[in-house]
Formats: sequence, C-alpha cells, structure tokens
Amino acid sequence: MPSLDLHSDVVSLTRALVDVESVSGNERTLADAVEAALSGLPHLQTRRFGNTVVARTSLSRAERVVVAGHLDTVPEAGNLPSRLVDDRIYGLGACDMKGGVAVALRLAATVAEPVRDVTYVFYDCEEIEAEKNGLGQLARTRPEELTADFAVLMEPSSAQVEGGCQGTLRAEIVLPGKRAHSARAWMGANAIHAAAPVLARLAEYKPRQVPVDGLVYREGLNAVGITGGVAGNVIPDECRVTVNYRFAPDRSEAAAFAHVQETFAGYVVELRDSAPAAAPGLDRPSAAAFVEALGVEPHPKFGWTDVARFAELGVPAVNYGPGESALAHTRDEYVEVAELHACEDRMGAWLRG
Ligand SMILES: [Zn+2]
Repeated sequence: MPSLDLHSDVVSLTRALVDVESVSGNERTLADAVEAALSGLPHLQTRRFGNTVVARTSLSRAERVVVAGHLDTVPEAGNLPSRLVDDRIYGLGACDMKGGVAVALRLAATVAEPVRDVTYVFYDCEEIEAEKNGLGQLARTRPEELTADFAVLMEPSSAQVEGGCQGTLRAEIVLPGKRAHSARAWMGANAIHAAAPVLARLAEYKPRQVPVDGLVYREGLNAVGITGGVAGNVIPDECRVTVNYRFAPDRSEAAAFAHVQETFAGYVVELRDSAPAAAPGLDRPSAAAFVEALGVEPHPKFGWTDVARFAELGVPAVNYGPGESALAHTRDEYVEVAELHACEDRMGAWLRG
C-alpha cells in the first residue's frame, strides 16, 4: 500500500494523492492509505465505512464543523503521474479534487486542537451515479456521523467561498400527434410540428435572478433534447422535448416542477429526475464566522454539488477549495501551488481560532 506523509507539505501530498489512481469504483487503495495515515494521529478517532473514511476530534467544543472531500476521479486521460510545472500541479484529479483533499488531510494532521470540533470525511463514488455516492450513503445509513453546525466541501472553487447550490430537474414535454402516411399528411397530425409553440415558450422564457442570503442565483430553463420521428414516410405521432431547469434555492424540488408545469400549461409534462437546491445558510453564525475568518467575498454556486446533501440534513454548507472548477474533468487539469497554500493557511487560521 502506498503511504501518505501528512507531515511533509501540501504540494508533495497533493502529488502523492494524484499518483494513487482512484477512478470511481477503484478507491480502495487510496482509502486504505488515507485511513492508515489518519489512524496514526492520536487526536483523531478514525473510522471506515466501505471506502469512506471519517476522522473526528472530540474536544467538546461548542461547535462542530465538517470538512469533506471525495477521493475518486473521472477516468484517466493520459494524465498520470503528476507533474509539477511552473508552480502548477498537473495530473488526474489535481483540480477535482485531490488538491482539496490534500488541504483537508494537512489540517487533520497539523491542527490537533482546533477551536471547533472537526469531522473530516473522505468519500468515494462522487463522479458517478448518485446512489453510489459515499457521502449520500453515509447520510442515509449513519446521518449522526455528519451532524454539524456547518460544512465545508473542498471542491475546486478557486479558493473562493461558493455558497449553497442550484437545484436541477429534467422533464419531458410530451406532444401527441396522429400517425399517417406522409403522402396523405392531412389524415394525420404532426407531433414534431406541435413542438413549435413549446420551443417558442422556451425562447421567450425570462429566467429569474433570485437573491438568497445575500447571493444572487441566476436560473435557467433550457431544451436539452428533442426526440420524434417514425420513418421517412410517416407523419410522427409523438415528439418529446426534454427541458432542464436549474433553480435557485428559494424553490423546493416540488415547487420547481410546479413552475415547469405552469410554464407549459396545457401540455403533458413528465418529471424525469431532480435534485434539490441548497441555500447557502450564510446567515447562520458558524457560516458567517467562516466567511469572516477567510476574508473572502462569497459567491453563489452555479451547479449541483454535494453541499445539497448537507442541506438536506439541515447543515449549511459551502464549497471552498483550491483549483478552478472550469478545469475539472479536463485532460490538462491542474491546481496552482499558491491556491493550495492559501487554502491551507486560511482554513488553518479558521480552525486554530
Ligand atoms: Zn469534485
């Protein structure tokens, strides 16, 4: 098993983490190494659930915070092992999110007496189907492990605080028609033509900009797919337009779907899947203290992340980590050495009080 030296420095540690390949479903070796490294620290109680490792301080502090990161990456793209070039670490997962995991592991090792109790969570299967997500499984089977006043998810955010996250839902607008031979089109009703007013509604749609806890979330309702057609000589009897609604945290999943139904009143609208939004919770004292201690301006998160899982447990959560989110999942992903140090220093100052 590769061993991780948590007392070296955040750059070597990031590279060591990148060099242990951990594509989703293959996290065992890395989880073993993380568990072994944390188990050697007397100030932490470390436990293992599948390929998720949880390590916590128990200092009876007034407040408990979670610092979390996923161990897995998307598939390799010829970007292993890691390379250090011009103060950037390149390699699979460097940005998403082994840099963030390295920062969290460094804090776990070096801040033995934080002023707030900390639960560190390193989990598997974030980059694949939601039901396998290690954090989701922990939330379902052992929610008490995630009990906290506040959570920081160390996803790449260019070392900026990104509060909450938008919800997302996909729905299909079902357009009926009547099948006929295209030589006698007047005997049928063309379902694809029936999509025209639906597309017009989408083109005219004015998405909301919604302030929540002081951050402005920009929504979007867009067609992301269209299917229809039977054969080259048939008037089609069905067409489906798939829409994706990215909604602000002031709407629940049910309210978001009701809005889509209302927008397409008069049509059959079928819900395909949805995931809730998460309010940033920046009005809560522990979240406000985090933002103040870091001295950075919070921004809204455009996208869905695991902070929503914390929100479902009633724990306000933010994304904060090294690396630019636009580089995540790219062949040339990298993390800036300066951001690794900035995150480690600022989070360290917050935990040391
Ligand atoms: Zn990620």
